[in-house]
Amino acid sequence: MAHEALKRKLIVGGKILVCEGHDDFTRGHISVRVPGKPNLFYMKPHSVGFDEITPKNILTIDLDGKVVTGKARRHSEVFIHSEIFRARPDVQSVIHVHSPYSVALSGTGRQVMAYSQPGALFAGDVGLYDDTIFLIRTPEMGARVAKALGPHRAVLLKNHGVVMTGGAIEDAVIGAIMLENAAQVQLAIEATGDALPEFPAPDLAKLRDVLASHEQFAINFDYLARRVKRRKI
Ligand SMILES: [Zn+2]
Repeated sequence: MAHEALKRKLIVGGKILVCEGHDDFTRGHISVRVPGKPNLFYMKPHSVGFDEITPKNILTIDLDGKVVTGKARRHSEVFIHSEIFRARPDVQSVIHVHSPYSVALSGTGRQVMAYSQPGALFAGDVGLYDDTIFLIRTPEMGARVAKALGPHRAVLLKNHGVVMTGGAIEDAVIGAIMLENAAQVQLAIEATGDALPEFPAPDLAKLRDVLASHEQFAINFDYLARRVKRRKI
């Protein structure tokens, strides 16, 4: 039952990402570790949109990127997920999306700044992978992405997209949405050329403590899940 509930959450997470504008045709993927089996994860299949994940097409994959269960086609970028799960035992869910403002920020080489509340969550907590614009199609490339992620919550893939992690699906989905919002506000402020200094570190840390709790991520995920349901997506 826990497995079915988790798969349902993966499905809802995909619909939320589409609803919030994080889809790019059928590109992008979301995964979550299988409960009690940390060397396996459930993942969205290739060739369908984030809003077309079903209990039947979800793949079960191991840390070598091999499909263990399921008949659907596997994303060639599976190694983003497998290598992050290998490197970071604390990570339970991984998302890769091509969210436009995050891509734009990745192309500047600038750090995420605390120019908004979501920005405060991510300031100093986002890595940068800049080996290539190409797809992450080998375990070695996946390991390089995991290295660029380091201990952080997210890593920007230069001129390509964002990889968000979380201790739960809710944290990763809401994290991806918040990083996109942070990037949008930051680019708007920087475009003025008149950015004021960020608030002092203790002030930012106080807010980060509030925003970074699983409870907060889950409350906002559940709200967006209700909205998806109302819109019959
Ligand atoms: Zn991509």
